[in-house]
Amino acid sequence: MTGGSAPASPGPADWFEEKLYPDIRQGFAIAKILHRERTEHQDLIIFENPVYGRVLALDAIVQVTTGDEFVYHEMMAHVPILAHGAARRVLIVGGGDGGILREALRHRALERVTLVEIDRAVVDLCLEWMPSIPGKAFRDRRTELVIADGARYVAETDERFDVVIIDSTDPVGPGEVLFTEAFYRGCRRVLTPGGILVNQNGVPFLQRDEAPMTLRRRRRAGFHDVGFYVAAVPSYYGGLMALGWASDDRRKREIAPATLARRFAAAKLRTKYYTPELHRAAFALPAFIGDQLR
Ligand code: SAM
Repeated sequence: MTGGSAPASPGPADWFEEKLYPDIRQGFAIAKILHRERTEHQDLIIFENPVYGRVLALDAIVQVTTGDEFVYHEMMAHVPILAHGAARRVLIVGGGDGGILREALRHRALERVTLVEIDRAVVDLCLEWMPSIPGKAFRDRRTELVIADGARYVAETDERFDVVIIDSTDPVGPGEVLFTEAFYRGCRRVLTPGGILVNQNGVPFLQRDEAPMTLRRRRRAGFHDVGFYVAAVPSYYGGLMALGWASDDRRKREIAPATLARRFAAAKLRTKYYTPELHRAAFALPAFIGDQLR
């Protein structure tokens, strides 16, 4: 079985093969296909895998699994929110599976979390087939769900946010526009002074151009402090994943360990991956990633 598609009625030996790289394939045994359709924007499949649990793939690229989602969602939510220290309003662009929304809403000091997702089907089908990921987040009174293109939203909205989190697909298809300088400029426009932007930025060992590209574009968009932190997400093949960081206030990135520990304790979060120590350590990049950024 080749390519990122699945047969009508899968037998026990059927596989989903991710098609993100020309010379490398990651395969997932399909125990059962739960849903598959061509949405308004992309090919969507949700299937059961014996190791990762339920898996969502869009355009033949793995997006999230119930088995390891906690890694990425905790690092994309808690790092910027705890680094900020006084966030009240958060914008999530993409993220229709609801995982980052769930983690962000665990910060009781937040007054509003706006999620702008282009594809309604992702929200509805994750609620139906992967309910452990969003949990009750979409029913929280602080949640505002907007079905729209994130690039258009940040270019047009009058709303302002303390933290912006870009949980996009890869820079192909509908997600391509979320890696442009114009989009980052829009993100900076909607941030309050000292606000923080984080974004999914690929796997540097295999997507070597992505981090340097967004570094340049976020700098050109006007951000004064631009960098990365990393996390190891098992289902994102290829080693460490880069998570982009941008702000106009460098002190937010160099936050003291004691301050982070105090904020973490005050937030009363029980986490499976994030710790205040790991938060700081995640900004220490391996030499090869540093070399890519020079
Ligand atoms: N964590 C995953 C990753 O790192 O690859 C991303 C997961 S999340 C499901 C990605 C979401 O971005 C998808 O639901 C997709 O529909 C949404 N998306 C893609 N392009 C978008 C755009 N231009 N505006 C808003 N949402 C977009």
